[in-house]
Amino acid sequence: MIIDFHIHVGRSEMWHPWIFEWAVNNLREEDRALGPQKLLDAIAGSRETLERHLDACGVDYAVVLAEESPVTTGMTTNEYVRDFCRGSQRLIPFCNVNPHLDARPAQELERLVTREGFRGLKLYPTYQHFYPNDPALYPLYAVAQSLKIPVMAHTGSSVFRGAKLKYGDPLAFDDVAVDFPNLVIVMAHSGRGFWYDRAFFLSRLHENVYMEIAGLPPQRLLDYFPEFERNADKIIFGSDWPGMPYIRRNIEAFRQLPLQDSTKEKVLGGNAARVLGIRD
Ligand SMILES: [Zn+2]
Repeated sequence: MIIDFHIHVGRSEMWHPWIFEWAVNNLREEDRALGPQKLLDAIAGSRETLERHLDACGVDYAVVLAEESPVTTGMTTNEYVRDFCRGSQRLIPFCNVNPHLDARPAQELERLVTREGFRGLKLYPTYQHFYPNDPALYPLYAVAQSLKIPVMAHTGSSVFRGAKLKYGDPLAFDDVAVDFPNLVIVMAHSGRGFWYDRAFFLSRLHENVYMEIAGLPPQRLLDYFPEFERNADKIIFGSDWPGMPYIRRNIEAFRQLPLQDSTKEKVLGGNAARVLGIRD
């Protein structure tokens, strides 16, 4: 079973232009003429086209992320993601609650999960400018813990205009992990750039903390995490599509790494299935 824990949708006009100015660099030469906007709209134009693409990539389930970051990246609203995923068994919607946009974040999260069908929360500290261990966020974590949904958060570098990197330090999740021992925390991008060691250590230390490897080149993973294999139960695969546009190539490159088969199976799907409560 393969689970992609990190997919963005949204029509191209929902994202700021600098997202695509950056994304074009990740396209193969032959796809440059089409461009990242058209690629996004063609594949994520509907649930059906995205599911066909996932089939072609060999992906069984995908986490689809809402993002309400009007200043830095764009607005793929919770409503949009709810409607996009509706009726799908394999698309798993994660909502976003932006603490600066919502007067009552905890109540909003409860509504999104219990009434709108969201199965996880994604936070964007670097794009929405807050520290993950700010006490103002604690009511949100308390709701997530009691509803038994995972909280995933961007950690590490962010290249888009207006992002603030200081909010991406995974160390802030040490507080959250200690204070909410039954809350599952997933550190997206594993502290990308300058905090790989922190993300790795925290996910080894805390039973409830996972690292997720979206946006990291698979062929570099063992440089970033020399003891990758020792953390086999706590690492989750994600692509960060469409920013990283080639999911199948990513999976194949990961499979080439000198790791045990059991580790590859866990990272590509087993660990995510446990976190998401999926049984096959
Ligand atoms: Zn992403």
